[in-house]
Amino acid sequence: TATLEVRNVSKTFESDNGDRIQALAPANLGVKQGEFLSIIGPSGCGKSTLFNIIGGMIPPDSGEVIVNGVSVSGPHKDIGMVFQEESTFPWRTVLDNVAFSLEVAGMEKKERLEKARHFVELVGLTGFEHHFPHQLSGGMRQRTAIARTLASEPRILLMDEPFGALDEQTRLLLGDKLLKICDALKQTTMLITHNITEAVQLSDRVAVMSYRPGTIMRTIDIELPRPRD
Ligand code: ADP
Ligand code: ADP
Repeated sequence: TATLEVRNVSKTFESDNGDRIQALAPANLGVKQGEFLSIIGPSGCGKSTLFNIIGGMIPPDSGEVIVNGVSVSGPHKDIGMVFQEESTFPWRTVLDNVAFSLEVAGMEKKERLEKARHFVELVGLTGFEHHFPHQLSGGMRQRTAIARTLASEPRILLMDEPFGALDEQTRLLLGDKLLKICDALKQTTMLITHNITEAVQLSDRVAVMSYRPGTIMRTIDIELPRPRD
C-alpha cells in the first residue's frame, strides 16, 4: 500500500487558435494509505488532466506528484490506471489481455493464467476468455481493461470514469467487487467520476472540483462511512 500526494500541480494547454487554456490551477490533494477517494466535478474542470498528470502520462507545468514521500515523474510502477476509453489490446484474447501485465512482470505462465482467470471471473467474463475484443460489446471490453489493471495489483489504483460504458446493474456489481479488492489489498484508490451516487457508494472521501476550469478554489472533503462488510 502507498500514499499519494499532489502538491501545487497546474497545467495549461494551448488551443488550436493559440489561446491558453488553464486546465488545472495549482491543485493540492492527498490520498492516505488504503483510502478510497473519489473526485467529482463537472465536465471540463480538469479531472482527466489531473488523472493524466498523476499517472505520469503528461508533465505538469508546476508542482509535484509524490508517491510514498518521493517525488515522481513519468509512469510509476506502483500506479495502475484504468482509462475512460476502452484500452484493450485488439490482437490479444480477453485472457491474454488480463494476463499481460503479469507476463511483463515475469510471472510464470501457469500461475499468470490462473490469476488472469480469477480476474476475468471477477468482472463477469467467464466463458469469454478466448474471445478477441472486437467480438465483445463495449462494456465487456471495458471490463476486460479493468480486469487487466486489477490483475497487476497496483499499490495505487487510478480510475478515470471506468464504469461510464456500463449499464447500471453492471456498475453496481463491479463497484462492489472493486471495494472488496481494494479492502483486501489495502489499495490506495482514486476514482474520477461524475456519478455522485457512485462516489458516495464507493468512497471513504469525496473531493469536489469546482465549476470553472482551472479554478479549484477549494476542495471540499466529505468523509463518508463506507459500507465495508
Ligand atoms: P474533465 O476531465 O474534468 O472533463 P479535462 O481535464 O479533460 O476535464 O479538461 C480540462 C480543460 O482542459 C478543458 O477545457 C479541456 O478542453 C482542456 N484540455 C484538456 N486536454 C487538452 C489538450 N490536450 N489540449 C487542449 N486543451 C485540453
Ligand atoms: P454492454 O456493453 O452490452 O451493455 P455490460 O458490460 O454493460 O455490456 O454488461 C452486460 C451484462 O452482463 C450486464 O447487464 C450484466 O447482467 C452482466 N454482467 C456484467 N458484469 C457482470 C459481473 N461482474 N458478473 C455477472 N454478470 C455481469
